[in-house]
Amino acid sequence: MKLDRVIPFAHQLLAKAVTKGDIAIDATMGNGHDTVFLANLVGEHGKVYSFDIQQDALHATREKLSNQEWQEAVSLHLCGHEHVKEIVPTTYHGKVSGAIFNLGYLPGGDKSIVTKAETTISAIEQLLQIMSKEGILVLVIYHGHPEGAIERDKLMAYVENINQQEAHVLRYQFVNGINNPPFIIAIEKR
Ligand code: SAH
Repeated sequence: MKLDRVIPFAHQLLAKAVTKGDIAIDATMGNGHDTVFLANLVGEHGKVYSFDIQQDALHATREKLSNQEWQEAVSLHLCGHEHVKEIVPTTYHGKVSGAIFNLGYLPGGDKSIVTKAETTISAIEQLLQIMSKEGILVLVIYHGHPEGAIERDKLMAYVENINQQEAHVLRYQFVNGINNPPFIIAIEKR
């Protein structure tokens, strides 16, 4: 298949926006794949702030980082992404060039712990304030579970109303997949 699947496409977008020495956010650590990906983009002089509300996610991520070169560049927070503005030091406000949210539940974990539209939107609003111009925020929206469909609808209502002078908003989706495969919303700050 030549068309990019959702996760490789998300990574391609982040790689356009995030370079060595930058500040990046993994808003939903999960099993740590995106934290590792971002750490490799920012390198030893950059910084990745990663968030999750489950200790299991921190353990999994810490383990993945243990054999990575740039682990000092990463700080893991057992805390909701709706606190992102408090956690990222003010000296870095305006310098965040990339952020990713992999929504839904932790694969292999407790399926009752899911991301929720209210906190996701609060985090997006804060990130739009502290991102750099041309910074990219990627949402991977999982809407195959009932709460995921509710989150999707609220998120779509929110992102479709972001002022076009403030940001460009893109949707990337395979439209004929069965079982509601995930899709991407990417927001580029202007
Ligand atoms: N659905 C994706 C993975 C999503 S993992 C896949 O299948 O690959 C989503 C993570 O978000 C979970 O680990 C969950 O604990 C975390 N999470 C839920 N609410 C959160 C919040 N408010 N802030 C940060 N992380 C949160």
